[in-house]
Amino acid sequence: MNMNRRYQGPRDPPLVQVIEHKCRACQGHAGHVVLDLGEQPACDYFPRYDDPGPDPVYPLQMWLCSRCGLAQLLTDPTVPEEPKGAEPAALVRQAEDAVHRVAAAGLLPAGARVAEYGSPHGGSWLGLLAERGLTPVDGMAEADVVLDCFGMMHAADQAAALAERAARLAPAGVLLLQYHSLDTIIRMGQWNALRHGHYAYYSTTALTAMLADAGLVPVTAWRFDLYGGTVLLAARRAADDTTRADDTAHPDETVLGLLAAESATGVRDPEVLRGLGNEVLTRAGELHDQLAALRDAGKTVLGYSAASRAVALLRAADADRDLLPAVADASPAKQGLRMPGTSIPVISPAELTARTPDAVVLFVSDLMEEVRKAYPEIEANGGEWLDVG
Ligand SMILES: [Zn+2]
Repeated sequence: MNMNRRYQGPRDPPLVQVIEHKCRACQGHAGHVVLDLGEQPACDYFPRYDDPGPDPVYPLQMWLCSRCGLAQLLTDPTVPEEPKGAEPAALVRQAEDAVHRVAAAGLLPAGARVAEYGSPHGGSWLGLLAERGLTPVDGMAEADVVLDCFGMMHAADQAAALAERAARLAPAGVLLLQYHSLDTIIRMGQWNALRHGHYAYYSTTALTAMLADAGLVPVTAWRFDLYGGTVLLAARRAADDTTRADDTAHPDETVLGLLAAESATGVRDPEVLRGLGNEVLTRAGELHDQLAALRDAGKTVLGYSAASRAVALLRAADADRDLLPAVADASPAKQGLRMPGTSIPVISPAELTARTPDAVVLFVSDLMEEVRKAYPEIEANGGEWLDVG
């Protein structure tokens, strides 16, 4: 049952296109569609397995603002909530590492008040910060540390979201913003970072412009390997009349280094971002051929992680049940459902191991270490994990 029109691969974005879009950050109208994945199901909408579909589809396009440089989701369909997945261990470890490094820089003093804007995907710092003597504040109260880990990208109105965080910052406070960097997305060809519900794809360059509009200046940054390269940026209030000359907030060498690297990559160049469209064809074609070859060789191949990022890849690869009979996921909330836009059922890890697959395609690279440890039976029975994330 292939219920949807065959996916034709990414469209070539037209070079000149009149689009009624206002930048989510700077309100500018000038910009380019740089990646167009066509009509895609909402990747958060996992229908029940017995729901025959067809699943509703929406355009999925990335637009690059010519004015502030923010790469963003063009259209804004109303997307139902994703069933809450298990918090990935990679995200938990990353939070520990980040707290350790930010504290070492003296930015998490005991007694400081903290406001956290969390991500629906997990990775809260609050427990770790409580151990260090920081106290969370209620509601919209002022805080010395305003923390946003992968939270702000879920806001359709980027200017309002950043203004809200900036407004809560105490005069000498620090805003910490963590994001999967656009520089990484471009350099690693991570086209399937583009998804409904993720409205912004930040470069440090674009964020610096956005922060300036909110009266803030980036002062330092840390880099992490999560998702192939994430950035944690620390910002303070820009100088005002009361600031002493030697206390003016300004970007340090780390921030300047990130900006220089992004300039070399070309994070503001629409032609550079259009290269992501070629990646779609390459990666999806490889996955299709790999699955077809395994099937033709009589091998049992299953998938792991019903992640939202797997949805567009499966459709781009034109992979349905005939190529990938099931995808396992640790979240009980996703079992009994199927992958959006396909007829592929989501099964439990117990069923995955019981089927003794010859190969398991893993859609989230960051989980490799975790799944090899959690399901040693796969390799013990001669199966292998294939990283397609
Ligand atoms: Zn803009």
